[in-house]
Amino acid sequence: MTDTPTQLFIGGAWVDAADGATMAVDDPATGEILCHVADAGPQDAQRAEDAAVAAQEKWARTAPRARSEILRRAYEIVVERTDELAHLMTAEMGKPLAEARGEVAYAAEFFRWFSEEAVRIDGGHGTLPDGRNRMLLSRRPVGPCLLITPWNFPLAMGTRKIGPAIAAGCTMVLKPAPQTPLSSLALAAILKEAGLPDGVLNVVTTSRAGEVCEPLLRGGRIRKLSFTGSTGVGRLLLAQSADAVVRTSMELGGNAPFIVFEDADLDKAVDGAMVAKMRNMGEACTAANRFFVHTSVVEEFGRRLAERMGALVVGPGTRDGVDVGPLIDRNGRGKVEELVADAVERGARVLVGGRTPEGPGCFYPPTVLTGVDPGSRLMDTEIFGPVAAILTFDDEDEVVRRANDTPWGLVGYVFTEGLDRALRVSERLEVGMVGLNTGLVSNPAAPFGGVKQSGLGREGGRVGIDEFLEYQYLAVPVG
Ligand code: NAP
Repeated sequence: MTDTPTQLFIGGAWVDAADGATMAVDDPATGEILCHVADAGPQDAQRAEDAAVAAQEKWARTAPRARSEILRRAYEIVVERTDELAHLMTAEMGKPLAEARGEVAYAAEFFRWFSEEAVRIDGGHGTLPDGRNRMLLSRRPVGPCLLITPWNFPLAMGTRKIGPAIAAGCTMVLKPAPQTPLSSLALAAILKEAGLPDGVLNVVTTSRAGEVCEPLLRGGRIRKLSFTGSTGVGRLLLAQSADAVVRTSMELGGNAPFIVFEDADLDKAVDGAMVAKMRNMGEACTAANRFFVHTSVVEEFGRRLAERMGALVVGPGTRDGVDVGPLIDRNGRGKVEELVADAVERGARVLVGGRTPEGPGCFYPPTVLTGVDPGSRLMDTEIFGPVAAILTFDDEDEVVRRANDTPWGLVGYVFTEGLDRALRVSERLEVGMVGLNTGLVSNPAAPFGGVKQSGLGREGGRVGIDEFLEYQYLAVPVG
């Protein structure tokens, strides 16, 4: 903690906010203040944008191999410092150390993946239909970007955007979530050490997100917004991006269905449910939000899931043997409590958990609800906590219709041993990603993203870099 930067990172230098403002970073396991970081205002954001704009032209002309090697070095440093970064993330966000280490590996992998993609940006050459004209296609960086990240994966949500932006030759202003600024500042220090030129990445930590970001989006110099967060904020930012026609990528909320058919292997389904529900204490956009379980297996599935959930150890993420850390803050926990109370009022039965523990910290126990009424609020609200809500279904058409009956479409999980059914149901689900007999889909080599109100564009995979590139077509008449 002592070496972690707490100032803004602008033009390659660590600086205070122009008005000297700072904001507190809390430890969600104790509610105590960990430290203070600079709290940027619009003037600081302007300076960060100036630095990104000034660096853009030269950065776009750097050799792809040079950009690739910076990312590769950054990957190696992140891996080397796994323990330090994991402790930092656990301190500011609460996840258990083992999960934080897993996130460091996941986050680092975006740097390695995009170091490999930086040297594979292709173009094209062709003869037009008239047989005379030729076309040359090249791909250019889109220009200075604004990157806005949430608190739930403080390191990986940063590298998933910074990696492709660097690979493509874009400069950027990163605004992390105010609950978890330290991971992003640590990342900036690592990239500087890895040789990233001044001004390519600028980090503004702030408690005044709207005041800081809106002028950048409307000002006409930022050419791209890459946002990860809630659908409500995404919608607002899309509207703000319209004036200057800023290109956008949106990774928004989810409401994942988790479907267990009567022919599912229940061992796999319960293992999958533990991952799809409990990764990150349920604070994940990919978290299973609605468990649809066939009537014939619901009792056994519910019993086995409740047994596994009840055996998890809740406590501060730094303590050995802890599986479930605190939720991010009192607001986050309050929302979970309200959703559970609403479901119980409408007739849900609590198989395990459901009661907020006494004492400091934002802890909530792993909870399984069964017999959930489809009209319960948690059916159309991201729970963002360790609560599994089980409903029943009787046939395939019915469950597909109910799974799709939501404005979101990020991910769905399907458990069945029938290949026909697996493919048929996956194709019918209105989602960007499907976990087939698995509770984990995230992988840096795969295109991550949703349909409907879960977002626009994809991050990671071969297509991740496309979000940061534009085509230029050159018309060439040939005698
Ligand atoms: P959030 O409230 O939407 O905030 C996300 C980021 O946007 C934060 O940095 C936040 O800063 C900023 N922000 C809020 N209002 C803004 C404004 N007017 N202008 C500019 N920036 C603004 O979401 P969250 O609670 O941090 O994260 C949870 C949400 O993210 C969930 O809905 C989850 O599903 C989603 N998520 C999606 C993915 C995905 O890949 N699809 C991945 C992870 C999380 P402030 O907090 O200061 O407002």
